[in-house]
Amino acid sequence: MNPLENIRIVLVEPQSSGNIGSICRVMMNMGMTDLAVINPHERHDWDEARRLACHADTVLDARKTFQTLEEAIADCTVVAGTSARTGLHRDHAGLPREIAPIVLDSAAHHKVALVFGREDSGLTKEELAVCTHIINIPSSEIYRSLNLSHAVMICCYEIFLLAGDPSYRPPEERSPETSVEMRERVYARWEEMMIETEFCQPQKLEHMMLGLRRIFSRGKLTDNDARILLGLAQQSLWVCDQWKKEKERGDEPI
Ligand code: SAH
Repeated sequence: MNPLENIRIVLVEPQSSGNIGSICRVMMNMGMTDLAVINPHERHDWDEARRLACHADTVLDARKTFQTLEEAIADCTVVAGTSARTGLHRDHAGLPREIAPIVLDSAAHHKVALVFGREDSGLTKEELAVCTHIINIPSSEIYRSLNLSHAVMICCYEIFLLAGDPSYRPPEERSPETSVEMRERVYARWEEMMIETEFCQPQKLEHMMLGLRRIFSRGKLTDNDARILLGLAQQSLWVCDQWKKEKERGDEPI
């Protein structure tokens, strides 16, 4: 399969119908067809979107609609969120050119997603947290945020260029890369483990979880890796449970 067809462009609550249309055109220009729109509002002018899509109305017609971001990316491995802002929770952001090979390598075998935020407020902290990678497009300090469709173009262009590079070779796959759904199961278990083992105080938990997500965004996570991480959390929780029961019975500690 052409890896570009495995790349899903996800728009979270886009406000401008024109932008949706322009993005369809960008996608077709860059060889991509899979468009997901999260929670579109009811007043969208789909004729306006169609006008701006021009010859890419097929992409517009084939779009999928989801209520939540989690649903739209559950089957994806790499999920690259985009943010005009840098700083807290975003300090591991990469350039489009740096993230392009990560996206394309994964798209050789799996569904991947590029996630774009609302025109006025971007992506929330929680939405960025479910992304496995973050892209920041360098821009002037005076005015950092690009028009949504321009941001989509820059990201897609870098991937398109790389895909057409004759020296580019997609990797051979050993253990398949894990899905976002599985990653989220790992995070949920590790969160429980952090509480039960009293590894961190409840008020530091959110910060710790963001740190954990950042660690796991630095490299590939395969299904085998995810199973090991789940197993470790599972076993720790079981041991904690045994300790608690022994304490209740008043047994000597082991
Ligand atoms: N005021 C918002 C800007 C939103 S722009 C904010 O501060 O986040 C709408 C969307 O375009 C963003 O959510 C992001 O997906 C994309 N975008 C705009 N400028 C970008 C940049 N410099 N780098 C990466 N993505 C950008």
